[in-house]
Amino acid sequence: KDNILEVKHLHKRFTSKNVTVKAVTDVSFSVREGETIGIVGESGCGKTTLGRCIVRAYDASEGEVFYRTEAGEEVDFLKVDKKKMKGIRKEIQMIFQDPYSSLDPRMTVLDIIKEPLKANYPKMPDSQMDQMAKEMAEKVGLNPAYLMRYPHAFSGGQRQRIGIARALVIKPKIIVCDEAVSALDVSIQAQVINLLKDLQKEMKLTYIFISHDLSVVEHISDRVGVMYLGKMVEYGETEQIFTHPKHPYTEALMSAVPVADPNFIQERIPLRGEIPNPANPPSGCYFHTRCRYCTEKCKECTPEYFEIEKGHFVACSLANELSLRGFSYEETK
Ligand code: SF4
Repeated sequence: KDNILEVKHLHKRFTSKNVTVKAVTDVSFSVREGETIGIVGESGCGKTTLGRCIVRAYDASEGEVFYRTEAGEEVDFLKVDKKKMKGIRKEIQMIFQDPYSSLDPRMTVLDIIKEPLKANYPKMPDSQMDQMAKEMAEKVGLNPAYLMRYPHAFSGGQRQRIGIARALVIKPKIIVCDEAVSALDVSIQAQVINLLKDLQKEMKLTYIFISHDLSVVEHISDRVGVMYLGKMVEYGETEQIFTHPKHPYTEALMSAVPVADPNFIQERIPLRGEIPNPANPPSGCYFHTRCRYCTEKCKECTPEYFEIEKGHFVACSLANELSLRGFSYEETK
């Protein structure tokens, strides 16, 4: 499959009161059309900032984001002019974490779903917008008879369906889901994930699925990127990342994934200490203060991000020498 998106050397820095925080540092990865990329890492690792740079909610400080438009044109959308950007923006939408706060309580659900149509197609007749919004509502499992109600009348899972309908009504190509199911109960989570999977097939969508929940990411993703302190430290096929991690941080994360088999007790690899302050990251390898394999060299040298096996990238100077713990895929399913 062809790449629909290619992120190259993306940086995002925030400066306030003379303090610069590197929220995203030199992140590169590619996304194939129709696949789901999971982006994982602890809170504050830069995954949400990365997602927001991809949908252009934030302007990246440096780097390139190549996007293949529906018309087959490849553009670096960090550099395109405003007019072209408007056209591209509707092809890349975001679904947010909190359905409670992301919906305007004073608008009816019908108006909420119609909003992106109004913004992108100002000349479209209202009746056509109503029709499209109703069809989309039905597709995500909302009863069209209830669309004149306000968001407070809906449950958490239904509100997330409203958020999904609003993002999909303008027929985007890529959806960035930022902790899209994290605020929901586990049983509702499963329903929303299944809905996202069905919609992906039907509408040929590509997902970038940002989550701290590894079990959810394992379930939904074709490939996974692991972020630590603003950097992508490992990237590869979901099975590679979950069963044969090559970065010590990923190894520790995977050891904490709950296993389905009650007879199988997995020894958890503790992560020492706290996440360092991103305004003042450690020297050398950013992970060295918490890594159980750290050597003197790790404290001085920044590890290169390289392809350790086909399609599997890692940023650890010792990745070829370490034999990290493997995890059984079946046991974690
Ligand atoms: Fe650990 Fe060193 Fe690899 Fe960093 S470079 S992850 S400190 S072994």
